[in-house]
Amino acid sequence: MDLKKISNAELTLRLEKLVRSERKITHLILVHIIEVESRKIYAELGYDGMFSYLTKRLGYSESAAYRRLQSARLLKAVPSVAEKLEHGSINLSQLTQVQKCLKTETKSRPLEAILAKIENKNTFETKQILAVEFDQPTQAQTVITPQRDESVRIELTFTKKQFEVLQETKELLSHTIHNNSLADVIEHLALKYNKKIGLKNRNEKVKRLMHNELISKEQTCIESKYEELKLEKLKNVKSEKMTRSFAASKMQRPYLSVKLKRQLMATAGHACQYVDKLTGNKCKSKYQLQVDHVHPFAKGGSSELENLQILCRTHNHFKGASN
Ligand SMILES: [Zn+2]
Repeated sequence: MDLKKISNAELTLRLEKLVRSERKITHLILVHIIEVESRKIYAELGYDGMFSYLTKRLGYSESAAYRRLQSARLLKAVPSVAEKLEHGSINLSQLTQVQKCLKTETKSRPLEAILAKIENKNTFETKQILAVEFDQPTQAQTVITPQRDESVRIELTFTKKQFEVLQETKELLSHTIHNNSLADVIEHLALKYNKKIGLKNRNEKVKRLMHNELISKEQTCIESKYEELKLEKLKNVKSEKMTRSFAASKMQRPYLSVKLKRQLMATAGHACQYVDKLTGNKCKSKYQLQVDHVHPFAKGGSSELENLQILCRTHNHFKGASN
């Protein structure tokens, strides 16, 4: 079977069917794990526990074995999870999160209600809900752990406001920093700040020197040399800018005012406006947003508001390629 010869619709249909069978099989595997564990068959086979059996005998990675084992135990406690699992509204890593919370619990909680709350939520949202439901204490201390390659792992707490500001910066920088992690964003900001302060200090130093009456001729000479270099650098930057703007004008990109862009962004809710015509699924990505001409500019499309929309980089490229 050559998948390359199958239509897009058929290919996605097949994949979706496979994923459904995979979820069904995952459920069956969990049920079997429960039974093998309760009969302690792993001991008979020479393993000290289910985890060893799953990793050493069945070849699961440690994290995959852990997720299945935790999920199986939760499934045993709450059999109704099976349906959600097969339906795909709850996944193994969410079940593992819940089971982890249960380990430190002494109080009994309405598990069914908690599980209903985390349906169709992503990892971040799930953790947030569980923290509330299980009254998890807020951690405040910063933990810095040195690692083998001289990198450090930092665990720190941001307030809601701080985190929102940081997320906003991350979105704004998504054009500058590709696959930007929070560490990349913080590094970018720090470098920018350091450069600014470094430049300020140097300028102040030059000023002090100039106002000093006791400067020797030699120093004057150095300074003028410095000024000369500065001028030359300025000239270079200017000519570089001119070359760049010349190149830009040659490409004849349409001019869109900042006001117009802002208006477009606001209308789009600062998110990608791509909608899949078949499923009606909206992209809504907030990363690397670009202004797109609905009817392409190159084909005579206007730069009026009516012909413009906001797309993420992926969808702008996708549209460009399918035009
Ligand atoms: Zn998009």
